[in-house]
Amino acid sequence: MKVYFLGTGTSQGIPVIGSNHPVCKSTDFKDKRLRVAVWIHWDNFSFVIDCGPDFRQQMLASNCQCVDAILFTHEHSDHTAGIDDIRPFNFKQGDIPVYAHERVISNLIKRFEYVFETVNKYPGAPSIQTNEVIAGQSFIIGDKTVTPVNVMHGNLQVFGYRIDDFAYLTDVKTIDEGEISKLKNLKVLVINALREEAHNTHFNLKEALDFITLVQPEKAYLTHISHVMGFHEEVQKKLPPNVFLAYDNLEIEL
Ligand SMILES: [Zn+2]
Repeated sequence: MKVYFLGTGTSQGIPVIGSNHPVCKSTDFKDKRLRVAVWIHWDNFSFVIDCGPDFRQQMLASNCQCVDAILFTHEHSDHTAGIDDIRPFNFKQGDIPVYAHERVISNLIKRFEYVFETVNKYPGAPSIQTNEVIAGQSFIIGDKTVTPVNVMHGNLQVFGYRIDDFAYLTDVKTIDEGEISKLKNLKVLVINALREEAHNTHFNLKEALDFITLVQPEKAYLTHISHVMGFHEEVQKKLPPNVFLAYDNLEIEL
């Protein structure tokens, strides 16, 4: 299984529009971060977790040829705003199965009404087939079992996903003990770390590192990173030996 980091930035991305912050001005390619998403693929199955506003650019950069499914973590725009750009995959493959919490599906129906139109739907509009993800219920994609992990993003419920010994959790601020028990014996954990300063709805760096100590994966990658976290190279030096800042277009193999 390969995991390709399509984007590793927080909601505004890096550089931030109009910002003169030194990290936004950095020429290091690792300091350029699109909105968070990952592309996961094995043998002949390929899917993405989240489909944010940079989806088109991410599909071009990664040379992804096929999207067999989209798993959504939650409905915020930095995770969903790219839906219109799935159309090239629709033209090649037909409807794309989407997996999300019932609340997220209702939100998509409201915000992307034209996608769900049943009468006189515009022929070029995106087409998806919805599948409800239920807390505590695993489901199958391709030939693998996906275990949803329930986390809280402030007051908003968010799903993380575990597949084999890999787990992807983003936009976490708190997580119940029962859910943490689903994260035993991981080879790789991806977890959000916004910046050093505390934040109401996202783990800061210390909270993410404490969480990694608690879960004890072999390796951990940090994502959903703000420009105020600092330069990639300098932040990386401060991290424990098994913890890495993810960066855009990084691919890892499990
Ligand atoms: Zn987010």
